[in-house]
Amino acid sequence: MVSTILIAILISISVYFGVIRNRVDKLYFEEAYSDNQEITNSAKLYFESKINEQISVIKGVEVAHHNIENNDGVFDSLYYETVIDHNEYIEALEIFDNGGTILYSSLVDENRMGINISNYPLILQIEKEHELHIGSLVFNPTFNTLCLEVVYSGENYSVLALISVSYFQAYGEEFKNSFNDKEMMILDANGIFLYDSYNEEHLIQRRYNEFNSLIESDVRTYQAMTVNDKESIVSFDKINLIDGYIVIYETLDSSLSISTIMNSYYSIVTFTIVMVFILTFVVMFYRFNVELMLIITNFEIIGSGNFDEQLKDSRIKEFSVLRHSFNDTSVKIKSLTDSLEYIAYHDQLTTLPSRNKAEIDFKKLNSKNIAFIYFDIERFTLINENYGFEIGNEILKDVALLLESFSNNVYRVEGDEYLMMNQYDSFTEIQELIKIIQEKVKKGFIINSYRIFITFKIGVSTFPDLGLDFPTLLQNAFTPLHFYKKDQTVDYLMYDEVLSEKYNRLSKVELLLNNTNISKEFMTVYQPIIEVKTEKIRGFESLSRWSNKELGVISPAEFIPILEKTRRIHIIDSKVLCDAIKVSKFIEKEFSVKLTASVNMSVYTIMRDDFIEMVDGALDRFDYDPSLLELEITESAFIEDFTTVSSKMDYLKSKGVKFSEDDFGEAYSSLTYLTKLNIDTLKISRMFLSSILDSVESRVLVQTIVELSKSLGFYTIVEGVEDIETLNLFKKYGCDFVQGYLFYRPMKEDALIQLFDVEKEEE
Ligand code: C2E
Ligand code: MG
Ligand code: MG
Repeated sequence: MVSTILIAILISISVYFGVIRNRVDKLYFEEAYSDNQEITNSAKLYFESKINEQISVIKGVEVAHHNIENNDGVFDSLYYETVIDHNEYIEALEIFDNGGTILYSSLVDENRMGINISNYPLILQIEKEHELHIGSLVFNPTFNTLCLEVVYSGENYSVLALISVSYFQAYGEEFKNSFNDKEMMILDANGIFLYDSYNEEHLIQRRYNEFNSLIESDVRTYQAMTVNDKESIVSFDKINLIDGYIVIYETLDSSLSISTIMNSYYSIVTFTIVMVFILTFVVMFYRFNVELMLIITNFEIIGSGNFDEQLKDSRIKEFSVLRHSFNDTSVKIKSLTDSLEYIAYHDQLTTLPSRNKAEIDFKKLNSKNIAFIYFDIERFTLINENYGFEIGNEILKDVALLLESFSNNVYRVEGDEYLMMNQYDSFTEIQELIKIIQEKVKKGFIINSYRIFITFKIGVSTFPDLGLDFPTLLQNAFTPLHFYKKDQTVDYLMYDEVLSEKYNRLSKVELLLNNTNISKEFMTVYQPIIEVKTEKIRGFESLSRWSNKELGVISPAEFIPILEKTRRIHIIDSKVLCDAIKVSKFIEKEFSVKLTASVNMSVYTIMRDDFIEMVDGALDRFDYDPSLLELEITESAFIEDFTTVSSKMDYLKSKGVKFSEDDFGEAYSSLTYLTKLNIDTLKISRMFLSSILDSVESRVLVQTIVELSKSLGFYTIVEGVEDIETLNLFKKYGCDFVQGYLFYRPMKEDALIQLFDVEKEEE
């Protein structure tokens, strides 16, 4: 701002000095010159008329003399004296005859009567009668004035007169009084000073040294020359009768002093204009700035999310328009922000607020204790698969409504996951709330006249003891869900130290697993599967083992989910497949015993494009009989992508490969799949075995499963048989095979081979 004003001032000053000032000076000089030129001209006319006046007197003298002579032939000196007395400028008169002899002279003191003056230069010029000759202008010391000699020729007599031109001086003095800044000078034809109002004393024989350039110059244009050592504006004119020049001059300094007055006048005007300009500029700039700042501030207010501010009209029309369009924009942004905010913070399906909204709301909650209750619908994918997405969506909406009826702070965190943030005084309030919710859920939801049952996995964390910020509390409410067992009976799991340790271990295992060399650290163990009737080994299940330097032996239950998550499980499955075929082939060769090699296949391995290639490759490599290979698949594999999985199964089955459904009854156990799948064997989960000896219901259930399996034409294997009672029970049910610690624990390759070695030896 200040710099802009300074620049404006500087520009104005330089414009003033560079252009205006020079222009004003020049204008003034030209004005002064043309004034002077007029004065010069009128002075010249005045001088000429004065001289002419004298000349007529002189001519009159000649006529008078003629008449006098004719009348009585006597010179009447009185007449001449009278003429001289009456004409102040006629200083002397002399009458001479045609021979040049003086007949009368007014210069009585010099006794000039009778003197012959025919050789006098002026008289020599006379050729005939009535001629007028004017001599040069000289200073006559006798009369102490500038004088002119004039001769006028008559018939018999001629007149010689000395005329004073003292009016030059008189005029000069008068002139100086009138114009004290100007000077007048009179120069003869050669440029010799005859009169100079500036310096009268040193006139004689002094020549004006710029005379030549002066008379050669154009009288109409202004010129500056040096006169008396000073730069001056000079104007001049020729006095025709006397062959001399009148010059009027005025020093530039004196002109300038007047011009300076003019200039200061112009300066004031210019300065005023500049100041008005600057002031207008400053005022405009200020107004502009104020308007701009207002708009900027209001944009900042909008930026901070406050749209209430509306601008009033401005006194400046353009800014009024700007303010109006600002207001319009603000309104539009507000409605846009509102709808965006709604979309960002709300779930379209359930209309519940989202996770992000939960984070914002959490900051607003002002309570000593807040519980984060995390709900996850178990096996929700199965519901989608069995009933279709529309019903799945209805369930999600109903769950939302149900939870909302218990709390004002319910959010949909992800697909089938919800969060409730509840303030409480005593934690039992939360426990009771969860209990009520679980009971309500157990009753199922009626959708399209179906009653659909779901179960919740619930994780809980509490503020402030289990976390101070939203992400930690949410994480700590979610983490327990990782540790939900398949047969979990509690209402909820709470993030606690044990869980935290488990979680830390999980993270550690994950980290180590990501950096491990699978072929080096992993090995395969084998658990024989026994035919119930004969109690002979039918084959074996191949299981993977990981022993790590840092963590020791790690259970597949820990590392399999991680490898599945990181999509590296196929490396293990492929290794185990080869190991199993290899050892089976070896035993076949060595002991001529054909064993079924059961190998677990993760859904992620089956889904890979090279799955068939992998199995075919292993079979070919060891020239293994495909009908001795049994791939164990859990039900979750079919849920993932039934079509792909079953088409791959069909292909391998056409080659003779067998399939078994692993862990039946453990997780999803959908009878739909059981009938649809082209499997050979059903493996009943050892989960049933924990209660089978004490509970009639369990026994009935297991017996039904075995019978169902038989009726579908499957072989049945029971896993986890640890005691003889259980074995007998399954024998009674007609189960085909058993697998469990009662017979063998999973063993290393050598131990497995050893079994047959021993058998051979025994034989
Ligand atoms: P699974 O396929 O159901 O394997 C049987 C599991 O039951 C094995 O546990 C075995 O050691 C255990 N088991 C057998 N008899 C008894 C018993 O009498 N009592 C008890 N308490 N347990 C018994 P393991 O080896 O820990 O394997 C766990 C699960 O990890 C397996 O369950 C299988 O689903 C998976 N798994 C193991 N190895 C692999 C593999 O190479 N690939 C894939 N994809 N999964 C594997
Ligand atoms: Mg298995
Ligand atoms: Mg199993």
